[in-house]
Amino acid sequence: MKRPFIDKEQAEEIIKTYPTPFHIYDEKGIRENARALRQAFSWNDGYKEYFAVKATPNPTILKILHEEGCGLDCSSMAELELASRCGITGENIMFSSNVTPPAEFTRCRDLGGIINLDDITHIEMCREALGGTLPEVMSCRFNPGGVFTLGDSAEGFQVMDNPGDAKYGMTESQIIEAYRTLSSYGVKRLGIHAFLASNTLSNDYYPALAKILFRLVVKIRKETGIKLSFVNLSGGVGIAYKPEDTANDIAVIGAKVREVYNEVLTPEGMDDIAIYTELGRFMLAPYGHLVKTATNEKHTYKEYIGVDACAADLMRPAMYGAYHHITVLGKEEAPCDHVYDVTGCLCENNDKFAVDRRLPAIDRGDILVIHDTGAHGYSMGYNYNGRLRSAELLLGEDGSVKLIRRRETLDDYFATLDGFWDT
Ligand SMILES: *Cc1c(COP(=O)(O)O)cnc(C)c1O
Repeated sequence: MKRPFIDKEQAEEIIKTYPTPFHIYDEKGIRENARALRQAFSWNDGYKEYFAVKATPNPTILKILHEEGCGLDCSSMAELELASRCGITGENIMFSSNVTPPAEFTRCRDLGGIINLDDITHIEMCREALGGTLPEVMSCRFNPGGVFTLGDSAEGFQVMDNPGDAKYGMTESQIIEAYRTLSSYGVKRLGIHAFLASNTLSNDYYPALAKILFRLVVKIRKETGIKLSFVNLSGGVGIAYKPEDTANDIAVIGAKVREVYNEVLTPEGMDDIAIYTELGRFMLAPYGHLVKTATNEKHTYKEYIGVDACAADLMRPAMYGAYHHITVLGKEEAPCDHVYDVTGCLCENNDKFAVDRRLPAIDRGDILVIHDTGAHGYSMGYNYNGRLRSAELLLGEDGSVKLIRRRETLDDYFATLDGFWDT
């Protein structure tokens, strides 16, 4: 059973100051999880998590994670700027972008961040953008192609994704050539990065990816004499969105990556290579809720509950049909003997937080919690239908509630039409 980190009384108290809908994040959960991750990889001296900013680009959250030892994985000018304004710079920035404009290479270099090149043609583009000199530390993104699978059984694959169809990363022969070129341009420390599967629910994803990358690290040294300094396992460790899902165990994942490290890298005398991760979802998703109020009901060919949030606040269900668990506050123990579509207000029939979901009887005025919205939730928000994005709140470790981003207003909506009304 999935339990929200706030109960009905707390929610009612919060709503007096901050009406629904809003996203709320659990500082205690975020910190404890970040510490568990760090502990899991503490066997590796250079280990660092670069939180994927796109998952939850809120400065208060980024600062909390930085306090827990995390750097930031940025992928755009705005995310680099956010890092800079949070005072998080230098090698605390990993810049993993693709189809990168020259100005972003320059900004990353100026902040002292690590540029992770998505393509071999980016070497010359980047060099040109930076006035002919590359930074001392750089990384390259690898794509092994084909189909990546894990855990073949009668029920099918535990994990399956399609790197061969993904726009990211270089082929093996390209990446080997890229390291030769970068080295000849004077880059001193080099790393490798790959992201092969998303939202994996398996303790074996990182170890399997690590094995592919560690073996390639050995091959690169044999063929070029270049010894890489870090291996970036990127994102992709998933979370248990459904109550019946088994959550990943980060301690087990860390220990299994260590086994592979000892098996592949240590015998080659490369036991000083740092491990980096760039987790987003795993770091934040379970520690965010979208809280909303049931405002409407409708009984036609189906039973509908309308709520005061919509896909503009959380796009995953509309975009991917993603499951997000729903708790009706105060009815945690009530039998789930009703079947509803829980819908937002957009003029799009896919604006449904749940379809044919078994839930307790819902009355207008009930407060609903949508679980696991801490990552790729607020950040994927948009303004379709002129809907304004909700506020973001932080539930502090001491139980206090703080506004960490106000809700949008109509003035925000019209801000880009500056000057139009004057003519
Ligand atoms: C999105 C992304 C991540 C984070 O992915 P999660 O699935 O949220 O862990 C990490 N690195 C890169 C380059 C990404 O694009």
